[in-house]
Amino acid sequence: MRKFIKFVLSGQFLHVLVLIICLSTLILNTASKPVSILLMLLAIFSAYTLGCNWQRPDKKTDKAKRLDVFPEHLNAILNGISDPVIILDTRALVTYANSAAKVRLPNCQENDPFSFCLRDPAVLEALEKTIISGEPISVHYSERTPIERFYELMISSVQDTSRRGNIIILMRDITRLQRMENTRADFVANASHELRTPLASIIGFIETLQGPAKSDLKAHERFLKIMREQARRMSRLVDDLLSLSRIELTEHVPPKDSVDMISVVKTIIDTLQGLAHERGVKIKLETSSNEPCFVLGDRDELLRVIENLIENAIKYGQSGRRVDVDITYQNTANCIDIAIKDYGEGIEPQHIPRLTERFYRASIDGSREQGGTGLGLAIVKHIVTRHKGTLRIESAGGQNAEFGARFTVSIPILNAKNV
Ligand code: ADP
Repeated sequence: MRKFIKFVLSGQFLHVLVLIICLSTLILNTASKPVSILLMLLAIFSAYTLGCNWQRPDKKTDKAKRLDVFPEHLNAILNGISDPVIILDTRALVTYANSAAKVRLPNCQENDPFSFCLRDPAVLEALEKTIISGEPISVHYSERTPIERFYELMISSVQDTSRRGNIIILMRDITRLQRMENTRADFVANASHELRTPLASIIGFIETLQGPAKSDLKAHERFLKIMREQARRMSRLVDDLLSLSRIELTEHVPPKDSVDMISVVKTIIDTLQGLAHERGVKIKLETSSNEPCFVLGDRDELLRVIENLIENAIKYGQSGRRVDVDITYQNTANCIDIAIKDYGEGIEPQHIPRLTERFYRASIDGSREQGGTGLGLAIVKHIVTRHKGTLRIESAGGQNAEFGARFTVSIPILNAKNV
């Protein structure tokens, strides 16, 4: 009965009525010729309108409309896109949000205004512009909590087959790109700053030697010594920068050689004996086995890791006069652990999480005194990551502490299975 009432109220009922009257008048042949032609045209028009309505029923629920626009396969495709996709009508009401959009913007509900999903003035302004002008706009949006994230929203206007206006918003997560860009900018600023300091000092000394200290032989000797130190520092910095960029380029390519870590550690201990002796430090190697222990690696890079860590222990832990290198095996994790422990002053806890950042130093003066570049631990971290290993930094600190700083590198052992 309800269906019949709906049908009577709809325009279709009128067309059926007109069609019946026209056809019956024509069949009964009761009208004059011009009226018959008119009735025939009216019948054709009603039949055509009914036919069109039959193919495209008018009154549909919002959900039915959405399903029409988004058949199952299209819905599956849009849900397969890892970036949020939101479709709005021209009143900025959400007509569709894919799964990623619902996760990223939990307030995003169909039929709600888009401003409920994202309350960002710049985004809403861009949306309004696109609705008015039909021009695509890209706008940036960032979240601060719980972690900093950056997005690029591409807002464009399209018409579907029913000539309905739609606004499509694609929200691209550009956090990684943005971070890389920030790191690059910081890196260029830091690198130029690091080079500028020794350069300025060399230029200053040259000017002094050419001017006030022209004939002061003692000053010549002293200044030339400092200039040589500064030039060496710049050279080390350039070397470290080149190493770091080379390592970064290959970081995603796993190393292929089989390298004996015991021999790597022993080679470096031998190489650094001179420096240790000069600083009055004794290096002690402790290992449960002298058998070779192979890892899948790049020998030069692994030498660099152990060299940087033992050299730091000698330089920064000099006051403890002892550096212990302990090699242990973690059978459960199938890893070799190399712990480099010094008995110096250690590192204050607030610095530990940032030590592997480029140019980060716990003490800038301390690092400069030691001729440091601030890149050693960044290089170590990149190499260890390439070797699928981990780096752990601990510091006991304090006068009666058991040790100063301990850097533990853990690298997976190459066993018969992955040779
Ligand atoms: P640098 O060239 O300055 O030595 P690194 O990246 O090797 O750069 O080290 C970063 C900073 O970490 C150093 O400047 C120093 O402050 C701190 N550090 C590294 N190793 C030790 C250590 N064994 N004891 C105390 N501080 C250390």
